[in-house]
Amino acid sequence: MDQYHITDVFHEESDFFATEKGCVLHCPVCQHAYQHTEPPFVLDSRDTAGTVWSGRGNVLVIPVWGECGSSWQLCLGFHKGSTVIFVRMVLSCYDAHKVGIHGMDLAQVRRKEVASDH
Ligand SMILES: [Zn+2]
Repeated sequence: MDQYHITDVFHEESDFFATEKGCVLHCPVCQHAYQHTEPPFVLDSRDTAGTVWSGRGNVLVIPVWGECGSSWQLCLGFHKGSTVIFVRMVLSCYDAHKVGIHGMDLAQVRRKEVASDH
């Protein structure tokens, strides 16, 4: 899995919002600014030990898909009193374009999967 640094996705854009101070999420690969969040979920520490990250606690995952084609996750992992924020790439826009998949397509597939679970 390719590693992307968390600072690649946070971009301060002081003129973007009138009232909130914050950062705009960008694609970790191409820096595209149009990124959409999906409903978050929690990975239980019993399922993630040694696979998702090197920490031992639960991981809060916010799925993100970009209009550039990327599908990635903004993750907050808990470990011994500290919380680490990091990026997991599901499908980079670079690879998505090679195989003809758009990030929006993946988001729609996931919504159908979630809807069929209930
Ligand atoms: Zn991208």
